[in-house]
Amino acid sequence: MLPLLALFAISFHSNFEGGNLGSVDRIASNHFRCHVNGETDQDGRNRQASWFYFRVDGAKDQPLTLDLVDLRGEYNYKPTRGSITKDTLPFYSEDQRTWHELKTVDFDESVPLQRIHITPKSNRIWIAHVPPYTNRNLAQLLVEIKGAPNLTEAVVGKSVRGREIPLLTISNSAVPDREKKVIWLMFRQHSWEAGSSWAAEGAIRFLLSSDPAARRILRGAVVKIYPMCDPDGVARGGVRFNVYGYDLNRNWDTVDPIKMPEITAERGAILQWIDAGHPVNIFLTLHNTETAEYLEGPPDTSGATRPLMERLFQILSQTRTFTPTRPPQFDAVSTTIGKPGRMNAPQALFHDRKVPAFLIEQRIAKSPKSGREPTIEDRKAFGVELIQSLWTAVQNPASESPAAAGGQSTAN
Ligand SMILES: [Zn+2]
Repeated sequence: MLPLLALFAISFHSNFEGGNLGSVDRIASNHFRCHVNGETDQDGRNRQASWFYFRVDGAKDQPLTLDLVDLRGEYNYKPTRGSITKDTLPFYSEDQRTWHELKTVDFDESVPLQRIHITPKSNRIWIAHVPPYTNRNLAQLLVEIKGAPNLTEAVVGKSVRGREIPLLTISNSAVPDREKKVIWLMFRQHSWEAGSSWAAEGAIRFLLSSDPAARRILRGAVVKIYPMCDPDGVARGGVRFNVYGYDLNRNWDTVDPIKMPEITAERGAILQWIDAGHPVNIFLTLHNTETAEYLEGPPDTSGATRPLMERLFQILSQTRTFTPTRPPQFDAVSTTIGKPGRMNAPQALFHDRKVPAFLIEQRIAKSPKSGREPTIEDRKAFGVELIQSLWTAVQNPASESPAAAGGQSTAN
């Protein structure tokens, strides 16, 4: 029999970077009801409860039952049963570095409630919706790659809380930029979507590696990367809104430097680049969803971006990790409801400067290809695949003749 003291020693904590959990009620000695905080927008609408990240102390070898509740929400003003379901298996870790997927959960749709059964093997265990990626992870990466020969670092602005919004430019400076394609990538617009950041890290590491494929790409491309678009949300364990409640992948048509400095900075640097006479041959922002996976383009009635999108979709579908649940969507206006403040980044960039701008959503649920929820390694691998896919997609089809291909390979 366990000593009484040990039972009462179980405690819950989320006072660390990215941590978030609401109140916890004790139902029985090892059974707890855990409220998921969720977030709403500036009008108190569009509640989304898709992030939890907490530590349980003092429960070594004790079989715990944890009920996650308060899951209902709203998406694009339509009610949802929530983002935490039977399909979204949480991850746990004993060191905050290596994350393991829970094999099963119980789910009661009528509440809704997700029930986790776990017996910690150590006195401290961390539990999260998906493997977390915080500002500290990015800071460590930036220290590691500092001074890399093909890397230029800039800061395009600051968040509401004064955190820097970095822009990395990766290219081989020995080749003039005018001969290159420009690929612009955006990661982690929404703070709960840590998978987007792991993919960013995979992409950045690949581009700066000695891999011949990466070196070839850097001779032909300028790759611009926003690795962290919502550092405040990531710090506090947020969902998809900035400090003032503005969704950072909406509102691209209502730029407000005070209320949404993140969008102002990110959008501003792209427009400045274009207005200085540089091209953006392709722009892509990477997101996560629960079970859907797809590629979406801007509402381009001219059809000009369609061949590029079809090419990209075809290439991506052949990769190891992209498993679309629907065909590419060419006229994505799903977020707009006819009032200002609903344009996402691709919609606005196309509207403002006709940028061929796309969005990818990747599921966090089990992948039909791998049979598991995407791991950190799967995400990093997709980062590499994404760069290769974008690079292949922006090649001018006319230059893909054998002669041009031969010319290209001798240049390496
Ligand atoms: Zn998102």
